[in-house]
Amino acid sequence: MSIFEQHESGVRSYSRRWPVVFSRATGSRLHTEDGRRWLDYFAGAGSLNYGHNNPVLKRALLDYVENDGITNALDMFTSARRDLLETLVEVVLRPRSMDHKVVFPGPGGANAVEAALKLARTVTGRSGVVHFTNSFHGATLGALAVTGNPLHRRSAGVPLTGATPMPFDGHDEHPHPEHLARLLAGPGSGLDLPAAVIVETVQAEGGMNVASTEWLRALAELCRQHEILLIVDDVQVGCGRTGPFFSFEDAGIVPDLICLSKSIGGYGLPLALLLVRPDLDVWPPGAHSGTFRGVNPAFVTATEALRTYWRDDTLEKSTRARGEWVGTALQGIVNAHPGAGLSTRGRGLVHGLVVGAELADAVSDEAFAQGLLVETSGPRDEVVKLLPPLTVSDAELAEGLAILEESVRVVLERAA
Ligand code: PLP
Repeated sequence: MSIFEQHESGVRSYSRRWPVVFSRATGSRLHTEDGRRWLDYFAGAGSLNYGHNNPVLKRALLDYVENDGITNALDMFTSARRDLLETLVEVVLRPRSMDHKVVFPGPGGANAVEAALKLARTVTGRSGVVHFTNSFHGATLGALAVTGNPLHRRSAGVPLTGATPMPFDGHDEHPHPEHLARLLAGPGSGLDLPAAVIVETVQAEGGMNVASTEWLRALAELCRQHEILLIVDDVQVGCGRTGPFFSFEDAGIVPDLICLSKSIGGYGLPLALLLVRPDLDVWPPGAHSGTFRGVNPAFVTATEALRTYWRDDTLEKSTRARGEWVGTALQGIVNAHPGAGLSTRGRGLVHGLVVGAELADAVSDEAFAQGLLVETSGPRDEVVKLLPPLTVSDAELAEGLAILEESVRVVLERAA
């Protein structure tokens, strides 16, 4: 029995899907200590949009460490923090006419979500938050309360309160958050006016469900009419995953609060940001705190990633184009197996192949056997989830899609 099996808690999960010992990683590849390699379409669950050990980011990090740059400074002023703020304003916020303030909420996505929920409640004086079916916002108690996934919810051990679920975009003929609109419209619905609505534009953990731009616009308008704060959780599908830097840009909306983490650090180092409309920045000094709000090496790689990839639209265009490519390839797999109940959905480089709960694990396992890491998602783990680094090469994209195609063929043949 390995040290992992013997001494690590049984709560570990990804190591069960991929039971090998990885030791090195470059670009879109992970290497094991015994010399095998895998193409990585998991990308650290979206934290490695620029690939593993991206050479530009690595150089900046090595230089910083070599010069005895500060590692942790909580929220003290540092030159690395200043560089990040200046670059974020110059490259991301100002070109989009956004004047949001930046909260450093702690190192992970759940920290950004917790801060957003707390701040929305503080600002409005209301406690309720609306979230959507199949949402995932993190594993801490506040984030779990607005998360749909039953396995995660059960782990809380206490009642999860202060949240009301509503149906996510079902792509009706007239996409509109009808149910929420009806409950907000009249007295007697039983829904107290919520502080906030929290939404993912693409529910990655929830099964790669894509909200239409119309639905998002209608949701933003509904929030505006009722003075409900709109929180977009861009932890997984922000930072260019869908094409533009923010996933909501195509909808032409500007959320009141925006949660960023995962790839904002650029290099896989822990970093989260909460962007806050300036008039909502009401917390007094110290009202939200945490030791790891100043992981400066992550500031350095985040700054370098913004400078390298977001000063122009090269990466955005390539992600959109490759997204079309992936979508077409997945549709080809669906078409090749009529009657198998397959379907596909996604946007940019976040795509899912719906193969059903019985087969998704088998497809992921077969892909692993053939050299590709893909995880599953959805409430029944029925979707094979493709999340290659945005910097994946054309050859690696073709290779991964070919492995997936072959894995689906093998699994369907075996099941027949
Ligand atoms: N929000 C979304 C949309 C996520 O996908 C995740 C993680 O997968 C989180 C929040 C939580 O982030 P973290 O795991 O860093 O706490």
